[in-house]
Amino acid sequence: MTTRFDAIVIGTGQAGPALAARLSTASMRVAVIERKYFGGTCVNTGCIPTKTLVASAYAAYLARRAAEYGVTIGGTIGVDMKQVKARKDEIAGHSNKGVEGWMRGLKNGTVYHGHARFEGPRTVRVNDEILEAEKVFINVGGRALVPPMPGLEQVPFLTNSSMMEVDFLPEHLVIVGGSYIGLEFGQMYRRFGSNVTIVEKAPRLIAHEDEDISVAIQEILEKEGIRIRLNAECITARRAGEGIVVGLDCADASREVEGSHLLLAVGRVPNTDDLGLDKAGVETDSAGYIKVDEQLRTNVPGIWALGDCNRRGAFTHTSYNDYEIVAANLLDNDPRKVSDRILAYALFVDPPLGRAGMTEAQVRTSGRKALVGTRPMSRVSRAVEKGETQGFMKVIVDAETKLILGAAILGVTGDEVVHVLLDVMYAKAPYTTVSRAMHIHPTVSELLPTLLQDLRPLQ
Ligand SMILES: Cc1cc2nc3c(=O)[nH]c(=O)nc-3n(C[C@H](O)[C@H](O)[C@H](O)COP(=O)(O)OP(=O)(O)OC[C@H]3O[C@@H](n4cnc5c(N)ncnc54)[C@H](O)[C@@H]3O)c2cc1C
Repeated sequence: MTTRFDAIVIGTGQAGPALAARLSTASMRVAVIERKYFGGTCVNTGCIPTKTLVASAYAAYLARRAAEYGVTIGGTIGVDMKQVKARKDEIAGHSNKGVEGWMRGLKNGTVYHGHARFEGPRTVRVNDEILEAEKVFINVGGRALVPPMPGLEQVPFLTNSSMMEVDFLPEHLVIVGGSYIGLEFGQMYRRFGSNVTIVEKAPRLIAHEDEDISVAIQEILEKEGIRIRLNAECITARRAGEGIVVGLDCADASREVEGSHLLLAVGRVPNTDDLGLDKAGVETDSAGYIKVDEQLRTNVPGIWALGDCNRRGAFTHTSYNDYEIVAANLLDNDPRKVSDRILAYALFVDPPLGRAGMTEAQVRTSGRKALVGTRPMSRVSRAVEKGETQGFMKVIVDAETKLILGAAILGVTGDEVVHVLLDVMYAKAPYTTVSRAMHIHPTVSELLPTLLQDLRPLQ
């Protein structure tokens, strides 16, 4: 039997639910299909649980430093991993239930729990049912990449998803991948009490950030006792008793790391391989990401792709912004487009890195004349008062237009402070808007005007 709708939403990540709600409010009959956990990656295995765990790790870290603040804690600091996981489950579970309840409560909505597959450009099968609609929105997200690493098939390994079930302290966690996910898990587990080694193929961590950022973050992590092994160009894995061994160099067997558990954090792949896209005629790139235009339309009229699966972003906020773009074009006669947005994200190690716009390397490559301002967090009074002085701020400005081109705020509350600059960038206002502003004392943001009053040419 075929059931007809006005719209079908496949996947309940960060774009699908909000879009389904908007469509339903616009009196469209909407089918929402989710194959696993409502809320997708961010809610269940990504942002929310990891930032909840990061908060537990921070509490342990600060408790160990209590004496520095004149605070006495009797006895040693312990971490109850079952309780840490229970807190994470409670917070993530609340969001997951919230999304499910929201979708099931939609006035014109019908929820299907099962794997969706296209049977044609307007036809989707879920379980034994066939659904049809003039409009189909794909929000299927991605999953952890499991690379073709020699030996991996004989070795137990964890990914960001299976890490969510860990309620014990790994003795020595070896993490392959020195980018966002690997670094967040690495610092978190070190603070819980594990030995941690991060193995990275590139010559530096988070290699697409500027080198000064990579170096500063490496120093921050190493200071906490995390071991970092770079230039691991040929990574292998094998079992060693109860544990694992990760080889770093196929030509030199002595370069290896032995640990108790292995976490793979080497990237993501889109969930598009089992979606029947070929039956709908939807084009993908060579890595399986769905090709879209500026309004997130695929090559097939009536089919849109939103979120991580379209390669136009890899964050919760980019996915949600995708929803806003599609809804604005479809329902509000507002021609918003992907290129309206400015790249912005954070790395939630402690202290966090808040990033907006271009890196220094990108500005240099662009060849434009630029000015740069930097300031170590050790010269930010609020950071000193808080006893959290690691990191630095860097802002780059176009020398001719005076527009802010990019910023990196690595330091306490850097993930929040960067928004001061981001909003000025959206306003297309000159940097003098900030440099002449009076900010509140004592805050980290109060040093942004000072920093911008002291720009020098980018050599
Ligand atoms: C460890 C980790 C930490 C992260 N931390 C952050 C962070 O701090 N900040 C941030 O901005 N981003 C973070 N991200 C990225 C963020 O989680 C994603 O960018 C975000 O979830 C957007 O994803 P999405 O909307 O594309 O889809 P997803 O959230 O991936 O959801 C897709 C949904 O579609 C469902 N689905 C897939 N295929 C089908 C099918 N065929 N039929 C039916 N349903 C299907 C899936 O089950 C899933 O529920 C993190 C990611 C990870 C892995």
